[in-house]
Amino acid sequence: MPQLAPITIVNVGYRSTNYWVVSAGASRLLVDLGWPGTMGRMRAALGRMDIPLSELRYALATHYHIDHAGLAQELKRAGVPLLVLDVQVYAIPIMKRWTKPHDHYVEITTDDNITISFGQSRSVLERIGLPGEIVHTPGHSDDSVSLLLDDGAAFTGDLTHSALTGENDKATVLASWRLLRERGATRVYPGHGPARPIDADPDSGKR
Ligand SMILES: [Zn+2]
Repeated sequence: MPQLAPITIVNVGYRSTNYWVVSAGASRLLVDLGWPGTMGRMRAALGRMDIPLSELRYALATHYHIDHAGLAQELKRAGVPLLVLDVQVYAIPIMKRWTKPHDHYVEITTDDNITISFGQSRSVLERIGLPGEIVHTPGHSDDSVSLLLDDGAAFTGDLTHSALTGENDKATVLASWRLLRERGATRVYPGHGPARPIDADPDSGKR
């Protein structure tokens, strides 16, 4: 059995949004992908952390909102393949509606992504040295997914804090938190704000 490199987690975020680089040695996954038109800023943020763009094996957007997937196409052009869950495909073309010309958003092409099912995610992650899976965690949006590592780290994007859910999406949000807990999540790496223990969500999974 190959020796697994220890997992490290670094935030290269900016403009109040977290972009997490999850690494097994020099094999890395970028979780959430920058605001539109900010490729220079993303390159600089990676550079400050000594992370070569060429070591990013995949880019994964937790969901297709502009602050989470704005650089997907530019990252692809720079050689980072885009990993898409099948439940996210519909959301990709919709995203451009929320951009303005001055955002300099580069539209994401859909014929050259690596589209997988949740069931395939574990083996895809295993190939880049990351023990874990990607799970469907709707609530903030239907296309929201979370990266859940076997060590309990959960990258939840904008999954609403369970104390802050509106009545409309409450059941969906709580079900997503429950799923994460059942699968072993202990620590939350959100799309905005600091990492926190999952127990800091008073309601999550408890009802
Ligand atoms: Zn969002």
